[in-house]
Amino acid sequence: MCAFLSLALPIAVIAAMGGAAAEPTSIHRKSAMVEARRAELTGDRRTTAFRLALSAGVRAEIYTLANPYRVVVDLPDVAFQLPDGVGQQGRGLVSAFRYGLLAEGKARVVIDTAGPVVIKRADMAATGARSVELVIELGPTSAQSFGTGTGAARAAPAKADPAPPPAARKRDRIKPVILIDAGHGGIDPGTTSAGNLREKTIVLAVAHALRAQLSASGRYDVRMTRKTDVFVSLDQRLKMSRDLAADLFISLHADAIAQKGFVNTVRGATVYTLSERASDEEARRMAEKENNSDAVAGLQTANFEEEGEVRSILIDLLKRETSNFSADFSNTLVKRLGATISLSGNPQRSAAFKVLRQADTPSVLVELGYMSHPEDERLLNSAAWQRRVAAAIGTAVDSYFSKRTAKAR
Ligand code: ZN
Repeated sequence: MCAFLSLALPIAVIAAMGGAAAEPTSIHRKSAMVEARRAELTGDRRTTAFRLALSAGVRAEIYTLANPYRVVVDLPDVAFQLPDGVGQQGRGLVSAFRYGLLAEGKARVVIDTAGPVVIKRADMAATGARSVELVIELGPTSAQSFGTGTGAARAAPAKADPAPPPAARKRDRIKPVILIDAGHGGIDPGTTSAGNLREKTIVLAVAHALRAQLSASGRYDVRMTRKTDVFVSLDQRLKMSRDLAADLFISLHADAIAQKGFVNTVRGATVYTLSERASDEEARRMAEKENNSDAVAGLQTANFEEEGEVRSILIDLLKRETSNFSADFSNTLVKRLGATISLSGNPQRSAAFKVLRQADTPSVLVELGYMSHPEDERLLNSAAWQRRVAAAIGTAVDSYFSKRTAKAR
């Protein structure tokens, strides 16, 4: 049992308390496939503790980040066996927490806090033969002493690679490359329905059904940004599309409406394309929500740098070719989806979705339905419905590429 109590601990705790410039807290433990069995919050606004019961000790890295204020706990490959809905209720200084895979072999817990906090104590101790408890105690602090958080340096986004010229590669291609993008994943669950259905699970199921549908014809080279319940950042998704020089990018999501009064009336699918200015307020709000994925996962987003890149991509878009193709596919898709499933009141919209900022790849983002609507929720979770949607998207893809090939001849 003593093996879990490492001497590294006091150093780690001092580091965490050292303010913004400090290194992240690091607790070394032996690594193995470990289960997380219970997660809970205790305490009050003076001291709030996050407790995670594990089947064995692991190495945990704990640090804070600003914008929004949160505490990040990085763990190795941990299997989360936690009940549905855990983490949605806040307590004391913590407003909510979430957990999941960040990448293959890397798990993460993100603890959202109502304001700036300081890590007062971080400890991992044996509580039984095969049980260890990680305890992180948080106390309030001022925004000034919080600064950018203890993890700001490590969480900084990697510089994006300069875009390779994809046109040459595209020309000698036999099959069009289609990149299916299942939104969210791992630590980022996306929207959660009243019945605890998660957007990340629904869209992955539809993505697999769509892949099966498109692969069956043998006409396309079908790829996916993720095949499992793993987090993929928006930059990684864009990079994948660029590296593949994809011919079409289809991002899959599912929406929810927060206002209780509209839960039973607002439903149906919407197809979004990229535009600098949103087509309407609802579309703008939606893009803001989806663009927040990286922050949800505890990644730092560098806005000013990103804006530079966005501007240059938007200038590229002024060539109009890519956005014309996107609009063309969106038209076809709305028609095909409308013949199969319910569409929202205004099914064709546009906004500044980060994942659609692709200079050379026509792209759309599909909100498949409203997880807040009882009937949509039921359908979204039905395998038969998922296959029907996949078939509808598949026919839209066929008709889009038939038209493009015909024009090229
Ligand atoms: Zn989404």
